[in-house]
Amino acid sequence: MATDVITSQQVGAYYDQLAQYFLLTWGDNIHAGYWLPDAPNASLAVAQDNLTDILISQTPVGPGQKVLDVGCGFGEPGMRLAEKTGCDVVGITISQVQMEEANCRAKQRGLEQRAVYHCMDAMSLPFEAESFDAVWAFECLFHMPDRAEVLRQITRVLRPGGRLVLTDSYEKVPFTPEDFALIRIGNLINAFFSAEEYRALLTTLGFKIKELVDITENIGNTYVQVTDATSQKEAEIRAIYGEEFLAQMRATAPGLIALVHDKIGYFWLAAEKAG
Ligand code: SAH
Repeated sequence: MATDVITSQQVGAYYDQLAQYFLLTWGDNIHAGYWLPDAPNASLAVAQDNLTDILISQTPVGPGQKVLDVGCGFGEPGMRLAEKTGCDVVGITISQVQMEEANCRAKQRGLEQRAVYHCMDAMSLPFEAESFDAVWAFECLFHMPDRAEVLRQITRVLRPGGRLVLTDSYEKVPFTPEDFALIRIGNLINAFFSAEEYRALLTTLGFKIKELVDITENIGNTYVQVTDATSQKEAEIRAIYGEEFLAQMRATAPGLIALVHDKIGYFWLAAEKAG
């Protein structure tokens, strides 16, 4: 039986509604933590910055250059990139609430001239062809109704020789229909895409893959920490979302943790558009 595609509007509504929940439990970033072997007890926030720093290290940009951050969340990763490299960042999110929060944070950090956030759908980018020096798609493509279309859009707006850096999850061990239902409902994931599929599609789009690194082993703590944070912040979450929401979170957490632990892999990749 064919499964309905989750629409961009549904994903936007999900992130709008859950903005406070994400801030309370995931923190400023809505992406996995990367735990270094010599610091297994690092906080989620530190581990999340570690992963952002890997992406930054793969993004050779400097002052006057422009990076598009597709699926920018609250803007934290892109602002870290802007601060560390001096580049300009344009972030897009399908969530109005995230966009407002990101622009507010940019202003607070004095970055409003160099980090600008818009609410728009990555399925149809209004930017001029070849207008960005690099593009990020940080832990967001699994939400999109048509990943190949988004990657075509990204290819169009990236200049020749520009860099695409992304992270994504993949189905490491085959899912049962129940697994897939859980992840669709819990995380609004439309579809997974393997490293091999990325290699093939990006090659067809004219990219050369520079690095593709499986980091499944380094990110395993993420959901455990988010679930711990959910327990610690119960009172605040209850005050905002009510008891039923908390009960649902508690009910789905063990299944999601097991799924992430046993069956989902994660990689990052850096690719260069033909010059
Ligand atoms: N990259 C951010 C956020 C990851 S969460 C971080 O690392 O913190 C996933 C992000 O993808 C959210 O910001 C969500 O709004 C965005 N997103 C999902 N579908 C989208 C779409 N169709 N168009 C634009 N953004 C989208």
